[in-house]
Amino acid sequence: MTDTAFDVIVIGAGPAGYPCAIRAAQNKLKVACIDEWKNLDGKYAFGGTCLNAGCIPSKALLESSELYHRANVEFAVHGIQATGLAFDVATMQKRKAGIVKASAQGIAGLFKAAGVTALQGHGKLLAGNRVEHTAADGKTQVLTARHVVLASGSAPMELQSMPFDGKAIVDSWGALEFDAVPKRLCVIGAGVIGLELGSVWRRLGAEVVVLEALEQFLFMADQQVAKEALKHFKKLGLDIRLGAKVGGASQDRDGVTLRYTDASGDKTVTVDKVVVAIGRRPYTGDLLGEGTGVELDERGFIKVDHECRTGAGNVWAVGDVVRGPMLAHKGKEEGVMVGDLIAGLVTEVNYDAVPSVVYTAPEIAWVGQTEEQVKASGRAYKVGSFPFMASGRARAMEAPAGFAKIIAAVDDDEILGVHIIGPMAGELIAEAVLAMEYSASTEDLQRTMHAHPTLSEALHEAALLADKRAIDFPNK
Ligand code: FAD
Ligand code: NAD
Repeated sequence: MTDTAFDVIVIGAGPAGYPCAIRAAQNKLKVACIDEWKNLDGKYAFGGTCLNAGCIPSKALLESSELYHRANVEFAVHGIQATGLAFDVATMQKRKAGIVKASAQGIAGLFKAAGVTALQGHGKLLAGNRVEHTAADGKTQVLTARHVVLASGSAPMELQSMPFDGKAIVDSWGALEFDAVPKRLCVIGAGVIGLELGSVWRRLGAEVVVLEALEQFLFMADQQVAKEALKHFKKLGLDIRLGAKVGGASQDRDGVTLRYTDASGDKTVTVDKVVVAIGRRPYTGDLLGEGTGVELDERGFIKVDHECRTGAGNVWAVGDVVRGPMLAHKGKEEGVMVGDLIAGLVTEVNYDAVPSVVYTAPEIAWVGQTEEQVKASGRAYKVGSFPFMASGRARAMEAPAGFAKIIAAVDDDEILGVHIIGPMAGELIAEAVLAMEYSASTEDLQRTMHAHPTLSEALHEAALLADKRAIDFPNK
């Protein structure tokens, strides 16, 4: 029997919930964190979607498939002959599962070290800041807390015309668990998941068709980056079909036949597996009891203010289950903020500096406004764009594709957005996030020394280019 009175109870131990619990405990509060996630082996695991079925396993498979792909198509130029190259999906999957398992155990260890009471099973908020905890054996206990934090995350969206069957029509988790490379794969949705998981299986040899409903590719990205990205995805062999409205599917011995309509009429495509990656929805299944006062918006997100207060007593909500981008680091910062606010500290999340990264090859990363958004705002702006082709390090790495682009205000030189497509873009963007966090100008970046030869020089030169003062690229 657990002690039942806490200062803070967090429901959900994904990347939003577990950092919240740890930070609250660091602030000397008595904390419990409840999580019900079970992996395919039927065992409970902390870490939520991100660790068990999202960020981490996808990056493990992206790494394995990228290594194979590079050995296959890029090593020759280095003078390395990789003959007789082969891969084993089972080994890749085993490596991935090991990383996931170790990471989940790591969170249990972090809870222990921080003094968080880790509870497995279902949590439900009841009126009066009480939380019902149902353990694996079905036994329930009611806990009380001064503060409750809801961090129940999100779930994949399903197409009504094509429900998941766990075999031929799967969600992103299913696509991370394939035990063999499908010969023909269709991914519905050319968003982040579609592009990352489409890349994994394409690199390993699948014929991949991506059906995207919108006419515009990567609508949320800077369109100069999106255009460059599309070129590279096509080169990889991803058959991306834009403006494709999927009508339904039928299955027979030849596979799954999808019907869709695009600008040129009705079409079909027959494949062995379908991954539906059309976005995720907030998850609040059996989370809220009667009379809690917590409200959902029309799309099912828990309503919160800029500090993640729900407006119901001392109930807070963080991560994918509230408004904003569904990103692990956004949830983490919200969780940490709430862990501090509950303890009476002054803090905030800067929603203007949330980085986005697509872990494809080349990588895509950005922070702040796109050029289209800045243009629409009416503010006069300048742009510096430096191609990796002109970077000595990128050329030495045989990774000259892409560019780093900085958009800054003309009036006060403040950096408004940074967009990178190219090698290690996901790492390079951190400098831009820090710069924007400190409201830096391009002059601040121009006057900052960057080691040579590094990829980070691309950002330095892009900042210089914004004022036509670049050294390693002609200023036009
Ligand atoms: P979740 O991670 O979903 O965690 C919520 C937890 O709460 C779960 O464990 C759930 O079981 C538990 N829970 C829910 N209800 C209850 C309840 N009533 N009682 C007890 N427990 C409950 N984001 C990135 O930033 N970078 C990436 O590279 C990235 N890659 C991704 C790849 C894939 C394939 C997917 C699907 C997502 C990816 N994401 C990525 C998104 C990222 O996973 C989410 O933004 C993140 O997991 C959200 O964190 P969260 O804590 O809000 O929710
Ligand atoms: P997404 O919103 O990124 O992309 C969904 C895509 O599907 C969009 O392009 C949309 O236009 C399209 N679409 C929607 N309905 C469709 C339909 N009926 N037919 C064809 N296309 C349709 O969503 P996602 O890729 O499913 O990812 C879910 C969430 O997970 C995202 O919020 C994302 O931020 C997060 N995620 C992040 C990362 C990362 O940070 N690297 C990786 C994976 C997932």
